[in-house]
Amino acid sequence: MIRDGEPSFRESVDLMFNRAVRLMDLSPGLEQKIRVCNSTYTVRFGVRLRGKIETFTGYRSVHSEHMEPVKGGIRYALSVNQNEVEALAALMTYKCALVETPFGGSKGGLCIDPRAWDEHELELITRRFAYELIKRDLIHPAQNVPAPDMGTGEREMAWIADQYKRMNTTDINGNACVTGKPPHAGGIQGRVEATGRGVQYALQEFFRHPEDKAKAGLSGGLDGKRVIVQGLGNVGYHAAKFLSEEDGCRITAVIERDGALHNDAGLNIEDIRQWMLKQGSIKGYPSAAFVEDGTPLLEAECDILIPAALEGVIHMGNAARIKAPLIVEAANGPVTFGADEILREKGVVIIPDMYANAGGVTVSYFEWVKNLSHIRFGRMQRRAEEARSRLLVEELERLSADQGLGWTLSPDFKEKFLTGSDELALVRSGLDDTMRTAYQAMRAVWHTRDEVDDLRTAAYIVSIGRVAQSYRSKGL
Ligand code: NAD
Repeated sequence: MIRDGEPSFRESVDLMFNRAVRLMDLSPGLEQKIRVCNSTYTVRFGVRLRGKIETFTGYRSVHSEHMEPVKGGIRYALSVNQNEVEALAALMTYKCALVETPFGGSKGGLCIDPRAWDEHELELITRRFAYELIKRDLIHPAQNVPAPDMGTGEREMAWIADQYKRMNTTDINGNACVTGKPPHAGGIQGRVEATGRGVQYALQEFFRHPEDKAKAGLSGGLDGKRVIVQGLGNVGYHAAKFLSEEDGCRITAVIERDGALHNDAGLNIEDIRQWMLKQGSIKGYPSAAFVEDGTPLLEAECDILIPAALEGVIHMGNAARIKAPLIVEAANGPVTFGADEILREKGVVIIPDMYANAGGVTVSYFEWVKNLSHIRFGRMQRRAEEARSRLLVEELERLSADQGLGWTLSPDFKEKFLTGSDELALVRSGLDDTMRTAYQAMRAVWHTRDEVDDLRTAAYIVSIGRVAQSYRSKGL
């Protein structure tokens, strides 16, 4: 999606990187080492389908190995190309550093329209692609651990894990070769919704800081805020659902590939999702107004704009017309470098992709740790925690009765206090903590350095600083 005068996605990432390193004190050699993509492997493989051989092209790019394994999703889309995969791999390096997951950055992609093939065909294609990557250690628990991205999900990750285990029958850590697996196949509770949940936690943290809200000209809480979401896939659906059902946001428009739905009173996200799953499209949904060309709705009045579909959708051609004072980049690279400059001049606050959508890699990290430790989180502690809480409640009730104090603990309090943390509760707690801590690291730079006037540059400074430290400690 490159327009005249607009840098490519890869160039955009590098330009944003350059803007940040100009404000840092790195040697030119180290700066260049961090910027470049270490390697990109291209594979072309054939699969016999529908009576003939189909040839597919796939990529696995490794941007930085300052920490291993390297981590990053696998995308299935016809638009996948080397430039895009390398840009996404670079973003993974910075994202992992920002949220302190101990990984380098990588990304993969396959040029395919996943909707053009049935499930069995997709399994054959995925297993063959995985085979090509596994035999070169480009999928490996200690070296390179993929995850879902656009066009892939739990199903594909389960096939990849199984393929790895078939080829490495004695590797006891085989399940850790990929994350985003379904819970019954070595996954973790809370991974499917993790990226959308992370977007929600990012916004909650932003709204805890009055100075930050003021920079976007916003005040109050999330309750009642008008939100426009582009892309009702894994990330957009979960973010919109949680923000509307739990934080009281009003989702006034949903922009999809084949049109958009809008309603100023707010849309019912779960209802729309169910319609999409049944009909394969948002078209015909009865409870909202529909427009065939949804893209202009990116420019509609709202408080928060969440692009959660693909890169480059806010570009030099439409940036000046964007009315949202706050943009949350749930997708990777939705705002081009040129658009970013225009929006900054307008005073729009952008919560950058490398932070906003880091919930996915954060919970992937928890899944990888779970796979390596071979035990579900909470299994050892949960009942011990409950027993200690019960001891306290019983002692309070005994004291109240003995002393005639007449205290009674409400049943609701007792139930909540007496319930130990299961895996889902621990995953949410770890994710919330990660999103808060990373936001605070970014905002500290944003607010303390005069020359830094946006969160993206702040995010790059924090993460590049950490990657640089890591390279220095290796003697580079
Ligand atoms: P997905 O395939 O589940 O959903 C993408 C959605 O966008 C689909 O509903 C699709 O119909 C819609 N879409 C496609 N083209 C569109 C267009 N031109 N206009 C409007 N909508 C369009 O993908 P996803 O996993 O939700 O990923 C979305 C974005 O989030 C990508 O940029 C991805 O890199 C990023 N991301 C995903 C994860 C993850 O855990 N899945 C993690 C981090 C970042």
